[in-house]
Amino acid sequence: MSQLGIKIDVDTDRGTHEGVPRLVEILQRQGVPATFLFSLGPDNTGKAIRRIFRPGFLKKVTRTNVAGNYGLRTLLNGTLLPAPQIGKRQSEAMRAVRDAGFACGIHCWDHFQWQDYLHRMDLQAIRSEMKKARGEFCRIFGDDARCAGAPGWQCNGRSLRIYDESGLLWASDTRGDGSTPVAFFPAWEGETFRTLHLSTTLPTLDELMGRPEFPEDRINDHYLALLQSGETHIHTIHAEIEGLRYADMFEDLLRRAKESGTGFFDLSAFAEARLKKPEAIPTAEISLGEIDGRSGLVAVA
Ligand SMILES: [Zn+2]
Repeated sequence: MSQLGIKIDVDTDRGTHEGVPRLVEILQRQGVPATFLFSLGPDNTGKAIRRIFRPGFLKKVTRTNVAGNYGLRTLLNGTLLPAPQIGKRQSEAMRAVRDAGFACGIHCWDHFQWQDYLHRMDLQAIRSEMKKARGEFCRIFGDDARCAGAPGWQCNGRSLRIYDESGLLWASDTRGDGSTPVAFFPAWEGETFRTLHLSTTLPTLDELMGRPEFPEDRINDHYLALLQSGETHIHTIHAEIEGLRYADMFEDLLRRAKESGTGFFDLSAFAEARLKKPEAIPTAEISLGEIDGRSGLVAVA
């Protein structure tokens, strides 16, 4: 039976305030470990509306009911409404996650900036985003972050170099499909980096929603079928999706996965175990590619 690690991307002020505590409750009730990755700077979600003009995005918005999942207030943040500073406003909510026994790390400083502009940013600009995120994380938690996972699965040789400078135990920006290693040292255009990388191997809920082959009441069946493989899997969920409208569905998935024998592991413990034998860790080349159900290019390994 499969082993499953859970990573939670937290993108917005509302997701941190409402979605995160709900997920903590669910995970505690089910006795499942997870790592929460926080967006620590401004919530500019509204600016992401510009993405609507990108091919494929409008189809996804209508298919997955983005406005319904994120809420109108969130979609106006950073445009008609000023961008709330998430770390400043939600310090207590973030510390409560750690105090409940869950691992915490960095998703980003400004989600919109990283997801939409990373590939146009030079090394210094990326270093500045990461420095602000690390500073805010340290202010909130009193300690350095040990893990990070980028918005929208966006990375490149420059961002991987900044990760190496940041003293992380592990990072997770990539998508794999089970045929590629879950844990590896990343390479980009021939250059190899030393921060252990973990790949998300299962499709995210928003990639499955609204497709005729996956009616909502069959999506968990699909996840459970993927968990029959006996492989090690990593699942990324979102505080704004599984922590809000789809919370019951997520708890049902955990319950049924446990019943069918899936084991759950903590991502940092998994990384530490791998790093005891670094010579056994493969190197994998990261590139940008398309994945089913998501518009635009993402990092695949
Ligand atoms: Zn995100």
